Amino acid sequence: MTLSNVRDLYQQVILEHYKKPRHKGKTTPVHRFQRGHNPSCGDTIELTVQLNDTGDRIEDVKFEGEGCAIAMASADLMADALRGKQVGEALSMVQRFQSMMKGEDEFPKEQRKLNVMAGVAQFPVRIKCANLTWHTLKAALESPNSSDTSVISNEEA
Ligand code: ZN
Repeated sequence: MTLSNVRDLYQQVILEHYKKPRHKGKTTPVHRFQRGHNPSCGDTIELTVQLNDTGDRIEDVKFEGEGCAIAMASADLMADALRGKQVGEALSMVQRFQSMMKGEDEFPKEQRKLNVMAGVAQFPVRIKCANLTWHTLKAALESPNSSDTSVISNEEA
């Protein structure tokens, strides 16, 4: 990786979210909880999700974890984008993000902040870092049991 590539990759926005995350911590209450791990880089993440009364809309998402700038910035950007979204909508955002990491798609205007991650698609070793939080979110939303403490790995993804 050349120096200019690295500069492109760690864009200003990504670094800002890494250094000053706005969605770090745990939601209260916790309706969904999921741990995720990206063995190829060593990133770990713990997502907590607060849903509305009927359980079909996301009120809040927070994360804790340790990892590289890409993994942490991706989690913060995701949490930002998910507030107030229907669960179904959030799941299609997971798909869209994964397509974006293949260079096949990007987000519409209202969610264009997420497109700062698009550059990561050029760096195969970093794609799993960016995808980790979305992969973990999907598992969190699809598991009805918030006390499930299993760790999912995105190694197969
Ligand atoms: Zn990473």
